[in-house]
Amino acid sequence: MKRRAARSPSGGSARPRPRGRSDAESHLKILHTVAETVSRTLDVDDVLRTALEALTHVTGHEIASLHLLAPDGKTLQLRGERGMSARLREVNECLPLGEGLIGRVAATGRALQSRNVVRHPHVFAPAKAVVRLDQIRGFISVPIHSRGRVLGTLSLGRQTPERFGAREVELLEATAHQIGLALDNARLYSETVRQLDELRRAQAQLIHAEKLSAVGELASGVAHEINNPLTTILGQAHLLLSDSEVTPLVGDRLRIVAEEASRAARIVQNLLLFARQYTPERRPCSLADQARRVLELKGYQLLQDTIRVVTEFAPAPYVLGDDNQLQQVLLNLVQNAHQAMAKQMRERVLTVRVWPNGQNVCLEVRDTGPGIPDEIMPRIFDPFFTTKPPGEGSGLGLSVSYGIVTQLGGRLRAENRAEGGATFILEMPAGDAGS
Ligand code: ADP
Repeated sequence: MKRRAARSPSGGSARPRPRGRSDAESHLKILHTVAETVSRTLDVDDVLRTALEALTHVTGHEIASLHLLAPDGKTLQLRGERGMSARLREVNECLPLGEGLIGRVAATGRALQSRNVVRHPHVFAPAKAVVRLDQIRGFISVPIHSRGRVLGTLSLGRQTPERFGAREVELLEATAHQIGLALDNARLYSETVRQLDELRRAQAQLIHAEKLSAVGELASGVAHEINNPLTTILGQAHLLLSDSEVTPLVGDRLRIVAEEASRAARIVQNLLLFARQYTPERRPCSLADQARRVLELKGYQLLQDTIRVVTEFAPAPYVLGDDNQLQQVLLNLVQNAHQAMAKQMRERVLTVRVWPNGQNVCLEVRDTGPGIPDEIMPRIFDPFFTTKPPGEGSGLGLSVSYGIVTQLGGRLRAENRAEGGATFILEMPAGDAGS
């Protein structure tokens, strides 16, 4: 952004103006510059920079500094300065609230000035030597307020000992007031942007849920129709297999029929869950226990594909859910991680972690596979979206999991890891104390 800070008449660096020229006109000019920036931008740094520049260039004060209260509420951070030596900047970078002159101004909300700052009993001890070396004499610091709260301080220093006159104090206070307003506006603005962002996310989720329910209705009809013949096929295959007259060759083929029929049954099961035909029960469950069960179930297959399993289960509260459904979610995530890693040669590590997070419990399934390409990331939770060849993927695992998790009041999201691989994070509201 183009800055329009007031310049000293010489156009060069800040230099004390001849005495007596600190007239109302130059003060108005400073205030005008600051007020103009405040109304023009919501960028806090821009406001701070312009305010400091205006103060030093127009009044000729050698040094100006601006500290803002850090989020920890205990320290003040240097957010802008003009004319400071490197050593002075260093000691001013972070000041404890309540200590030294600037720290006191911020703690009490009252302005403070000195004609010989080195001799002041409250000068910040680590800064004393530097202030002496830099020959700073006159010093003034005023608080920056907003809505009754102190947000920081605005300070001026100069090498001459004359007092800061009433007009100069007024000017500094007016500038600090403008900065307070600007900070307030910027905060309101970023709060509005955050809310808008949340609204957009909620809208996207709503669209997604709509899509799920439309496909769900269709899928559930088909699933019901398929379920009955599938059960018959499976039953007949098992009956035949138990017949002693079946030859080994026929037996092998029957086993293939049974295996494929039960694979189809799993898909139908996924479809029915997806269509929410099954009302879940909400019981206290331990996410770590569900993960242990799923890893036990998949243990042999993971071992066969030389996948190392790492688990980190921190003590965490129970979540309210249906253990069958939660296992289904975890099975889908572990299955995807397994398939992603089985295709590549580098080290295969599946990490499953559980940890408490405020009012929630998180579970992460992380792999060292190729990760999820950016272009498909927005679609992976869509029903029937798959990048796997026919027979390997139905494109239902993640959308079913998403449906289950949101129905239980939780969230499921995917990310790529910087070091490669994908990670899925399941976050569920904690239901009860437990482990
Ligand atoms: P399916 O596994 O049947 O394809 P899913 O809904 O479970 O269906 O997954 C959708 C798609 O998301 C997958 O086809 C794959 O492209 C991608 N995906 C899911 N998990 C991973 C993972 N761990 N690593 C890389 N890609 C993944």
